[in-house]
Amino acid sequence: MLRVVVLGAAAGGGVPQWNCGCPVCLAARTEHPELQSTQASIAVSADGAHWFLVNASPDLRQQLTATPQLHPKAGALRHSPISGVILTNSEVDAVAGLLSMREGSPFTIYAHERVLAILRTNSIFNVLNEKNVKRQGNEVDMTFEPALPDGAPSGIEILPFEVPGKGAWTAANTSISLPPARG
Ligand SMILES: [Zn+2]
Repeated sequence: MLRVVVLGAAAGGGVPQWNCGCPVCLAARTEHPELQSTQASIAVSADGAHWFLVNASPDLRQQLTATPQLHPKAGALRHSPISGVILTNSEVDAVAGLLSMREGSPFTIYAHERVLAILRTNSIFNVLNEKNVKRQGNEVDMTFEPALPDGAPSGIEILPFEVPGKGAWTAANTSISLPPARG
């Protein structure tokens, strides 16, 4: 059975956004704290023990603290039930939370090669030592199954597909080549 935990559902910036004075953000700061929301991300699991994040938002640390399924198991000094992070794009809203996942716990990042290339070219992501944090590329329109830490199949099949929209602004001025046209 696929389990999904919604970690956050707000757009980039969250609610309230730090520099926003719109009526919703204003209310979220004052009489309606229930309107507060962290930035969009989900966690998925097929076995309830091993979890995969879909994107790592800048709010990830707060989201992990608020989600018991993602806490270290009882009695373990160092442990995380997070087996991997699946990145759908390289926008700040999708990758900044990776920086909160340093400290040496092993997991795998799954993403398109263009996204992995952006992580490689931004040296701040070197805090995720590739000895512990493996990178695995995936292809558009090709199903893949992320693995558990022992290499066993996770029971989760993922089919990446393209959606319309503009590219990440962080990639606007880089020389990363586009994948060959399909068809
Ligand atoms: Zn606002």
